[in-house]
Parts: sequence; structure tokens; C-alpha cells
Amino acid sequence: MAFSAILGQTKALTLLSRALASNRLAHAYLFAGPDGVGKTTVALDLAAILLCRAPFADHPCGTCPGCLKYQSGNHPDFLRIRPDGAAIKIDQVRELKKALNFAPFESRLRIVLLEEVHTMRREAANSLLKVLEEPPANNLLLLVGNSTGSLLDTIVSRCQVIPFAPLPLALAAGIIRTHRPELDDSRSLALAALADGCPGQALAFEADGILALYGRIVEALLAKRDKAAERVEQALALAVDLAEAKEGIAPLLALLRIFLKDTMAARTGTSVCSEAPEVKRARERWNLQQLSAKMAAIDLAEQALARNCNRGLTSEVLLLDLFDCSTHLA
Ligand SMILES: [Zn+2]
Repeated sequence: MAFSAILGQTKALTLLSRALASNRLAHAYLFAGPDGVGKTTVALDLAAILLCRAPFADHPCGTCPGCLKYQSGNHPDFLRIRPDGAAIKIDQVRELKKALNFAPFESRLRIVLLEEVHTMRREAANSLLKVLEEPPANNLLLLVGNSTGSLLDTIVSRCQVIPFAPLPLALAAGIIRTHRPELDDSRSLALAALADGCPGQALAFEADGILALYGRIVEALLAKRDKAAERVEQALALAVDLAEAKEGIAPLLALLRIFLKDTMAARTGTSVCSEAPEVKRARERWNLQQLSAKMAAIDLAEQALARNCNRGLTSEVLLLDLFDCSTHLA
């Protein structure tokens, strides 16, 4: 993919494109910014251009041996270092140093991508610092991290920092929709807002199954069931799934809150986005009082989770409230 295909990071791309065009790349870059805004994508694209044997402008050719090896994940001059467990460890930095002692195998430059560098402890960071102080020739280090705050100043000062920013919500929503075309405008905008303009984070909710669980909960809430016992059973089954979502609970509750808020806005005629199909159904189904009660149940659950209350119990209470079962059990 060409740089030009990456959306929203104009400043970062301009800085890098200029350096590429004038053949004046620094020996080390630090791509800094929140998770999920394209830092690693840009680093991978930059590596693709540099390892291509016949690139045109900011495009790899896609067919030369360099491109083919890179695409297959087997380019000998591309090293990718990710945290081993929670952090990049000193042993990984030592291995890297050994590798850097040799000239690149077949390319002009060896590209080293270090991801999540903010996870490095002092020991590993100091070891990396030595590489940055005396970089062996023909190597380009691309450091990717979510902020410069937790990194040693000395590391930051030896890299050229390329800042990445959250995207405007409409743009983030557009990117989400290219990956999830079935999402409507209001849902993709809600996801973009929930992820603070970082589409990668929004798509991570998807990867964790959060969106699917959200869909199941809303569908079950809107389904017609006459028997109270059936509703209780369904609420409790979904509560188990919700408790198992662990860190996913918070974004899921936020999504449910957006759904209820949209439904309230639809009922009072103050909607700003187009109505999602589930909002149309919910608007027919619940009055404002019922919607407020459901919103209050979400508030309570959020407060309970903030106090580290038992996840399973909190999920049960929440789902029973959302399904209007609490009165039947009392
Ligand atoms: Zn190529």
C-alpha cells in the first residue's frame, strides 16, 4: 500500500514523504501517538517502500523479489520486534544488537521495527540507547510507541519523533466502515467516539467479540418473550457472557449507553444522526421512563465495576434490570 492510502495522518506522512523524496531519512524514527491510529501501518508501509528494488515515488512495485519476500513475511533485512509477554525485554535488545553487527543481506537498508517501545523497562531501554547512540550503518530503526512520556528522554532525543494524532470522528468512522461495511452511520460514529478517534481500537473491540455480544444483547432485549421465566433465563445466560468479556465490559456498557441515549433522542425527536434499525425498534418498545431506568442500571454497573465489585454478580444485576426481570424476582 502507498502512503497516500493512509488516512488522516497528514503531518506524519508529509514529514516522511519529504525525507524519502530527498533521500534524507534519519537513522531512527519514533512514531508516537495513541493506539489504533495507523502508526504500525505507516511503519510497515515505509519498510515496504524501502525494501522494494524498484519503487516509484511512495509506492512499492509489488512484484520484485524484495516486495515478494516482504509480503511473505520472509525478508531477511526486515526485523520486527514485539513485546515478549508484557514488555520488550533486554534479551531481545541483545539479540537485535548481534544482528546489527552484520551488513544487510540483500537490501541497501535493514529495517528494524520495534513495537510498543513504551513497554521497555529501564534496563532494556538503556541497552537500546547504545544502539541509537552509535547506529551501525545501513540500518533504519522504526520505534512505535503510544506516548513519549514513559520513554527515557535520552531515547526520545536520539530519534526523530513523528507525531500521530487521533482522527476526526467522521474520518475514523469512515475507516471503521471500510472494515465493517454492515455497520450503519450512527453505529460506526458511536464506535469511533468510543475509541476516541482511534479506528484501530474500535476494530479491536470487534476482534474481541465485543460488538457481536453487544448485538446479541440488544437483539435479545428487543425480542418479544411473553414468559417471565424465559426472560430471566436469557438475561442470566447473557450475564455469563458479559462477565467473561472482562476488559471488554467497559466499552460494551458504553455502547449500550449510546444505544439507549440514541433511543431517547429518537423518542423526543432530538436525534442528530440517522436512526439505526435497532433504535427504531427500541423507540416503539420503551417509553422514556423505561429508558431512564435502563440507563440508571448501566450507571450502577459502571460504579460497581469501578469499585472492583464481583464481575459476575454485577453482570447479573445489570442484565436482569435491562430485561425488566428484577421485579419478577423480588
Ligand atoms: Zn518491489
